[in-house]
Amino acid sequence: HAKASGRGRAEHFTDALATRIAERAQLESDLRQAVDKDQFALVFQPQVSAVDGSIVGAEALLRWRHPDGLKLPGAFIDRAEETGLIVEIGEWVVNNVAETISRWGRLGVRQRLAVNISPRQIDHAGFFRRLREAMHAARAPAALLELEITETLAMHCSPDVLEAISALRADGASIAIDDFGTGYSNLARLRELPVDRVKLDRSLVEHVADQPEARTIAQAVIALVHGLGCEAVAEGIESEAQAAVLRVIGCDILQGYAIATPMAEEDFLSWARAVTPRRAMG
Ligand code: C2E
Ligand code: MG
Ligand code: MG
Ligand code: MG
Repeated sequence: HAKASGRGRAEHFTDALATRIAERAQLESDLRQAVDKDQFALVFQPQVSAVDGSIVGAEALLRWRHPDGLKLPGAFIDRAEETGLIVEIGEWVVNNVAETISRWGRLGVRQRLAVNISPRQIDHAGFFRRLREAMHAARAPAALLELEITETLAMHCSPDVLEAISALRADGASIAIDDFGTGYSNLARLRELPVDRVKLDRSLVEHVADQPEARTIAQAVIALVHGLGCEAVAEGIESEAQAAVLRVIGCDILQGYAIATPMAEEDFLSWARAVTPRRAMG
């Protein structure tokens, strides 16, 4: 009897495993075709000044219009990294970001646009060359480009990558450390990195309005960021109460659903025009 149920469990387990393997294979094959089939899109989430609420830029976030429905990066970015497909997808993203910056410029919306870069992408020889080519081809000013790299990537990037980042910064682009507070930072190393902004992860922001300790931690992190000569950006702000605390404790830039959700380009442009005084629109 025990044997029979044991076998039953084993069969159930192998079935589940087989299903997972099949799903992963399907996801990979769908991902391989997604660029060619023009299934990717970018949405744009505003970033605003904590001082006066004016728009300071936006973050480009990837969406996959899969035939079965819209997929968020959480459903495919890891697989894209594992398979190396992130290199091709990242190239699509970078080309689009360059074209978007340029298109917005023609529409009189001079806003900085931040793009997320995965470790696998940045390690790939040619990433920075293609990024420059994309910006150049689109006639997009480097000053309007920001690269978001994670804390862990920033801590481990090679001297070559560091040099390429410095060159890009010399051209006027900026660098933001994403998801700060989720990894393990060597603070001495952070000091040596060419960084302009540090984005406090949502987990650091979540309880600033209801837990005094969380507020103390966020305040200390912001002081650290300022001490390093960088601007502090808070991400994942979901309530006005959180935004209010972040303003008081000196955060520079705010981003989150409470300010605006990621939007399709048309909606983002309307939003940007509505919050920006006319004379600043160029
Ligand atoms: P991230 O760079 O930390 O982006 C912030 C994520 O939080 C986004 O999720 C955004 O939609 C979401 N978010 C914004 N405001 C709020 C809020 O108030 N509350 C909550 N709960 N969430 C909020 P999304 O778009 O699903 O992207 C997830 C992650 O996927 C990003 O995290 C980024 O690491 C990665 N990613 C997105 N686009 C790209 C891309 O083009 N290339 C690469 N390599 N990675 C990307
Ligand atoms: Mg990001
Ligand atoms: Mg983040
Ligand atoms: Mg991230």
